[in-house]
Amino acid sequence: MRLFAATLATETNTFSPMPTSLDGYRQSVFFRPGEHPTDAPRMCTAPLFVGRARAKKEGFELIEGSCFAASPAGTTNRADYETMRDEILGQLKAALPVDGLLLGLHGAMVAHGYDDVEGDIVERARAIVGPKCVIGVELDPHCHLTKKRVSKADIVVLYKEFPHTDVVERAEDVMASCRSPSPIVSRTATWPRSARACW
Ligand SMILES: [Zn+2]
Repeated sequence: MRLFAATLATETNTFSPMPTSLDGYRQSVFFRPGEHPTDAPRMCTAPLFVGRARAKKEGFELIEGSCFAASPAGTTNRADYETMRDEILGQLKAALPVDGLLLGLHGAMVAHGYDDVEGDIVERARAIVGPKCVIGVELDPHCHLTKKRVSKADIVVLYKEFPHTDVVERAEDVMASCRSPSPIVSRTATWPRSARACW
């Protein structure tokens, strides 16, 4: 089994006139493959962190993509968003074939020209990996849920705690659900060709 993991996340306040640039990401989380910390996940990077631990323990292959995350701020610059997104999607293409995709996103990220950033990422990722690859996404409960992101993902799990003390546990849920959809996954399916789990 081959899985790919990456993160692109921030919580956007669209009322803020100050755009978020690459510098905002560099100040928080800006890790390329080979640079990921090993001690703990940073911000929305728990899916990669958990995937790495599981891969080592269970013997499957995890391809580590880039992780970018910025503290809550204004709308992300279009070119900067596209740069980070396309870097991750390029890594995903290079990693094919993959059986699963683990994405650490926020759910309330907005970039200039992209009101539904997470939907854009998941839609483009789906076009790359095809219909059989399982796409699992971890989101912050302060997220929006759009039809696009839910229809293009298989598994969507939100943190349940505030402060967000359960990011690793919820990433474990994403991981477990991607590997073997459980009865709860079947029961919670509500949309046609939709996330098999969203809770
Ligand atoms: Zn939050």
